[in-house]
Amino acid sequence: MMTLLLSFCRSLQMLWKNRLYPGSSPRNWTFSVLYSYFHFSKKEQRYFSFTLPFQRNIKATNFLISKAISSNKSDKDTSRHPLFSAGTAKKKSEILGYKKDQQHCFPSSSPVLLPTKPLNSEEWEKVKENFEQKNIFEHWMMEQMIKYNCSIDIAKSLLSWIARKNNGIVDYKLLIGYLTLCVSQRQTAEIIDVYEIMKTRYKTLEHEGYTLLIQGLIHSDRWRETLILLEDIKKIMSPSKRNYGDCIKGALLHREMNLAWNLYFEMLNHRIIPNWETFQAFFDFAKGVKNNEFERRLLDILLYLRNNQMYPNEPFAQSIKIWFESIPEKKWKGESVIIHKSGQCLACGRMLESIHLNSEEYEFLKQRVLKDILDGGDQYRKTTPKEINRFEKFIKSCPPFDIVIDGLNVTKMFPKIRESETLLDIVSQLTKQNFQVLVLGRKHMLNGRSRWHKNEMTAVQNMAYCFFADNVSEDDAFLLYATLHSGNQCRFLTRDLMRDHKACLTDEKTQQLFFRWQQGHQLVFLNYYPGKKIIFQSVLTYNTVVQTTGDSWHIPYDENIVERYSYEVPTKWLCLQQQN
Ligand SMILES: [Zn+2]
Repeated sequence: MMTLLLSFCRSLQMLWKNRLYPGSSPRNWTFSVLYSYFHFSKKEQRYFSFTLPFQRNIKATNFLISKAISSNKSDKDTSRHPLFSAGTAKKKSEILGYKKDQQHCFPSSSPVLLPTKPLNSEEWEKVKENFEQKNIFEHWMMEQMIKYNCSIDIAKSLLSWIARKNNGIVDYKLLIGYLTLCVSQRQTAEIIDVYEIMKTRYKTLEHEGYTLLIQGLIHSDRWRETLILLEDIKKIMSPSKRNYGDCIKGALLHREMNLAWNLYFEMLNHRIIPNWETFQAFFDFAKGVKNNEFERRLLDILLYLRNNQMYPNEPFAQSIKIWFESIPEKKWKGESVIIHKSGQCLACGRMLESIHLNSEEYEFLKQRVLKDILDGGDQYRKTTPKEINRFEKFIKSCPPFDIVIDGLNVTKMFPKIRESETLLDIVSQLTKQNFQVLVLGRKHMLNGRSRWHKNEMTAVQNMAYCFFADNVSEDDAFLLYATLHSGNQCRFLTRDLMRDHKACLTDEKTQQLFFRWQQGHQLVFLNYYPGKKIIFQSVLTYNTVVQTTGDSWHIPYDENIVERYSYEVPTKWLCLQQQN
């Protein structure tokens, strides 16, 4: 009996052959079932085991290892910038109480009851009998099997039972579920069988179906058919970076270099940014291969990362290192380093590119900020033309500033201290050091109410230049303009990250210049508290992008253990130098 029911996919294929199933769209299925709904009698429990969520345990272990590594690390002599360094924002959000687990509603430990061996039809019927929501049982069970990476034979026994009771029909959603399981376990023969079934039964598939088939077929001798599937996707939508990436991987696996590069360039032409695995596949493929053209293209990939301010992940950085070191006769040597705050590489002693803009870049950025941010049309404007005019006149009447302060923003950092007291303390300390200071604020700061004492604000106005905008105005734009207008030596003080403004800048080149300028000009307190001496965190002096001198490469990359927000920069670098 058991052997009869343990049918393999090929027999299923016979059962399903040429039966078109017009069932509901797979997208309509939802699985919002509570575990408490399911009760199994003692008798049924012998078919099941408590399958612990294995992947979750790996994650937990990795997290513990990461924690152990990071707690052993010394930040001495490094150039960690508190605002922009990788991981800072993550730490900050955790301090504020936004724990990652709280963002999800999954139960933290929910063992699921799954069969430990293939079941026959009678056994499946019994299981279903005890399941409350009978109409979703089959799909729910498949979901669990995927979630806990169940054995293919057990999944097949489920499909076999379903096919038998439905005149050989297994719906699309279940087929996709089974395919997902086969792909994750790289069961190539099974994948080809499902592919054949799908080709026969459906004219077109959903994107998920194509994606899984491409992913599964690249390892088989029918990998070229992934290109047909890619063309099929193009008929309905733009292929994803993953679709292209998988086809490229297939081509490289089968040593079709030209095809792989053609697909890569096609992606770039469609402005689809390849994922790290795709870039990495090229470097892994080229390991130890002597091919000048291939080598030039790999270096072009590194320049592409530079131009797009992209930071490789750790596995990709590792592949880059291995590839360089494998180039015959070139004697490259790579190592992972931290850059000294002066911008000097601690491994090779070279100085990294300066973060400061040259005069041409500076002038270009200044004009764009003025045009796109301060006077950026109604879409972005948060002030009136009259006020912009008033501000421009004010700036022209002042000498260049050394420090521009966002008055409201910095005083908000210390909620227990009266705002005007904080502002006065900061301004008096900075002006005593002979800095030319501009305080930007809003008109309400002058109304003499409790948080803003009149005498303290008068003292601030006597020590520094002050501009108070209308209460509705957005003062960041004024801050950027005043700083840029004062020249390259001028810095600005705010906790604001200016992300909105960066987004207003219309092209990538300006965005990159802005980011570089921001990192080189934004001041951040180092443990300041009102009344205590102000010390600023040192401002980055070097540019955090991929860079080369011909016989050296420096590549900032993301460590596995650090979660970096998009506006932060990595602290780890790969230093590659050619040995003489
Ligand atoms: Zn170096």
